Amino acid sequence: MEEGARSCLLQSRSSLEQDIRASYLMDHMISDGVLTGDEEDRIRKQAAALLELLLRKDNQAYISFYNALVRESYGDLASLLHNSLPLVSPEAEKSFSDGGTRYVQAVLSEGGVPQRPVVFVSRPALVNRVREKLYRLQEPGWVTVFGMAGSGKSVLAAEAARDHALITECFPGGVHWLSIGQLDRSDLLVRIQSLCFRLEQQSQEKDPSSSLHRPPGSLEEAKERLRFLMLRRYPRSLLILDDIWDSSVIKAFDIQCRVLFTTRDRSLADCVSGSKSEVAVESGLEEDQALEILALYVNGKPQRLPEQARSIVRECKGSPLVVSLIGALLREFPDRWAYYLHTLQQKKFKRIRKSSSYDYDALDQAMAASIQVLSEEHRELYIDLTVLEKDVKVPAKVLSVLWDLEPEEVEDVLQDFVNKSLLFRDCHHRPYLYYLHDLQLDFLAEMNRSGLESLHTKVVRQYQQRYSQGPPTSGDEECLYWFRFLTYHMAKANLTQELCSLMFSLDWVRTKAQIMGPAHLINDYVEYGAILDKENSEVRGHFQEFLSLNGHQLEQRPFPDVVQLALSQPDSSEVYRQALLQAQERATRG
Ligand code: ADP
Repeated sequence: MEEGARSCLLQSRSSLEQDIRASYLMDHMISDGVLTGDEEDRIRKQAAALLELLLRKDNQAYISFYNALVRESYGDLASLLHNSLPLVSPEAEKSFSDGGTRYVQAVLSEGGVPQRPVVFVSRPALVNRVREKLYRLQEPGWVTVFGMAGSGKSVLAAEAARDHALITECFPGGVHWLSIGQLDRSDLLVRIQSLCFRLEQQSQEKDPSSSLHRPPGSLEEAKERLRFLMLRRYPRSLLILDDIWDSSVIKAFDIQCRVLFTTRDRSLADCVSGSKSEVAVESGLEEDQALEILALYVNGKPQRLPEQARSIVRECKGSPLVVSLIGALLREFPDRWAYYLHTLQQKKFKRIRKSSSYDYDALDQAMAASIQVLSEEHRELYIDLTVLEKDVKVPAKVLSVLWDLEPEEVEDVLQDFVNKSLLFRDCHHRPYLYYLHDLQLDFLAEMNRSGLESLHTKVVRQYQQRYSQGPPTSGDEECLYWFRFLTYHMAKANLTQELCSLMFSLDWVRTKAQIMGPAHLINDYVEYGAILDKENSEVRGHFQEFLSLNGHQLEQRPFPDVVQLALSQPDSSEVYRQALLQAQERATRG
């Protein structure tokens, strides 16, 4: 193996060893003939052993390993190896050739801009239209990218930013990505808080004299903080807001900066100030592009695809999401072209309620077909994902609680879903985060409508089993998930008793406020107020009052003594009663 390639493997060794499931890659490498069956037996599942072996092999092995990473959706790890590819393989060329320079990759990765999907086709006319609008964004202003769900807006927005000249000439301050989706005020606050934190942290790395502030406590404060950061620390940068639904959200970003946002609602830019331009995204890909996706999945040339390919594209109406689902199926079953065409044409899987004028039939057929080829065990696990909220990304650890499986087993299952385009992976985070496209969640919700309550009940029961000794306290992504969504699952499961005993507990209030700040907590009492009131409206009032009086204190760090705060409530309050008990306990313990 070339020196450069070996050195790159050694440098990237710890990331590779930590993140890959070697068994998946080995299938590809055996079929490339660079690993033998005996060697596979020796290595089994250990990434470290695979790397050790790889270091003793030739350039071909390096390329094969690189290609296997790309095919198994480890795009971020593949990109670590990309620059040292000894002989650039056609696949590598395809995936990264105009994926920008090292500098572009670094800027986009720092700003959290998603990578290209593993199977990707370019839409040059559209990308150029967006870039042209971005070039004209000399002053603060807005570019709206609008179109149907699943039409490829997010992929397009990320692609438009993936350009060296554009970044250096127009956005030297960087490109900062924020996924929005359907969210309420408290979620929005948390998103902006995390954006501000990210920006402050990065700017502190560059300039250690700049200080980190406590998180902004209200939306107004968050808006001001962001305005300050964009103006002072990140001038001439681009903010990309992905999937905005609501005018109140877009108003929160009306802070005199340069924004590109994707949306299904073209009129949203009407409610903000500054220069505006827009780009429409057609709902489907051009036929040639859709055929290219299918060809990439089956490793063939578009011209050589069987005759059914064009009809499949027509049935999918060129939807990139649906074509990807079918492509992933065909990769696994390359002789099923006629069968999947027939499946798409059958339209037996009719949605009961159509959520918009868009015709989702093809998506329904493709999803049903993809789910059908899962093993029975994996199918049940996939159906469990119905309970996730839209636009929420979860780490594997949450699913390990839900499924009661070891983390390694969970990763195997998730890899299977990712390979089938049934699930997406956000590689910018460690640990990786997983999410579904919201059309896929719509499909699952529709399919499991009658079983929804019991699916949510399962989440709560599994959580209770895992955390019978007390809630998680680590502050990692998993812990955040439970603090954010446990109440949601309880409410959806109709577990009123459980919900009330959780929310009427000072311990829960203290831990959740400490980990997440008070905004979500306050929102929970508003959102589930009607359910809590059925149990005890007075107690609900006590907690809500306590939070509205002390919200600002609960934002302070170091975190205040909640028992002390609660003792200043009227003695008729349940909050006071619990605080008194805890104070007495403390006194007895000395
Ligand atoms: P939207 O933002 O409009 O809802 P996305 O950009 O999330 O749609 O795209 C949905 C899915 O379609 C992606 O996850 C990806 O699988 C596929 N897709 C979109 N654009 C492309 C593309 N240019 N090449 C390949 N696949 C694409």
